[in-house]
Amino acid sequence: MIRHHPDDALLLALAAGSLGAGHRFLVEVHLEGCSHCQQRMQTVNSLGGVLLDELAPAELSAAALERTLAAIDALDHAGTGPEPDTNQASAKPWLPTTWPRAMAHCEVGRWHWMGPGMYWNRVTLPDEPDANVFMLRIGPGRMLPRHTHSDSELTQVLYGAFDDGRAEFAAGDFDETDGSILHQPVVGSTGECICLASVEGKVMFEGWLARIMGTVIGM
Ligand SMILES: [Zn+2]
Repeated sequence: MIRHHPDDALLLALAAGSLGAGHRFLVEVHLEGCSHCQQRMQTVNSLGGVLLDELAPAELSAAALERTLAAIDALDHAGTGPEPDTNQASAKPWLPTTWPRAMAHCEVGRWHWMGPGMYWNRVTLPDEPDANVFMLRIGPGRMLPRHTHSDSELTQVLYGAFDDGRAEFAAGDFDETDGSILHQPVVGSTGECICLASVEGKVMFEGWLARIMGTVIGM
C-alpha cells in the first residue's frame, strides 16, 4: 500500500513542463506504480487544458491555480478513485529485479561502497546526462548520516523501507525534502532498502566524515 505521494504542486509542475529532468523522472517513476496518482495526473492534465482553453495567459492567476488545487483536493476526498492498495502494481512487492520501466533507457552504473552496508550508483538519464539522479542501497539496520538539502531532494522507494523519524517510507512511497528538513533515514532490521533519488542543489551532511563522503560521491 502506497502512503506517501507527490504533492499537487509537483504534479502541476510536471504537467506544466517546469520540472527539472531528474525531478520529472522521479515523479514519472512514482506515477508508473501508483494508480491513485495516475488518476490525479489525469485530472491535473484535463483541468490544465480547460484553464488554458478558457483563459488568456494573463488571466492565469493565483485564483485559477487555487481553483485547480481545490478541484484536485475534491477528487482526493470524493472516494471515487480506486483505493491505492487495490491496484496490482502496488499490491505486489517491488523486488530489486523488477526495476521501473522508466529506468529501462537509463544507464545504471555499478554499485559504489559509501560506508558499511551502504552503496550508491549513478543513474544517467538518456536525454539529460547531467541530472543528479542516483540509487542508494542501504543494508538492514544501517542509517545514512544526518543531513539536510540546499534545494530539494525527491526520493522514490523501490524496495524495502526506511524511517527518518517523520514517517516510515516503504516500497512505492515518494518523499520530498528540502532545507527545512534535517533527517536521518534508518533502515529496519528485517531487510535492505533501495531508493531512487533526484537532488537539485546539494545534500549537506553533518560531521566532517559525512561531508567528505558526500563530496566523494558527488552529492
Ligand atoms: Zn502516488
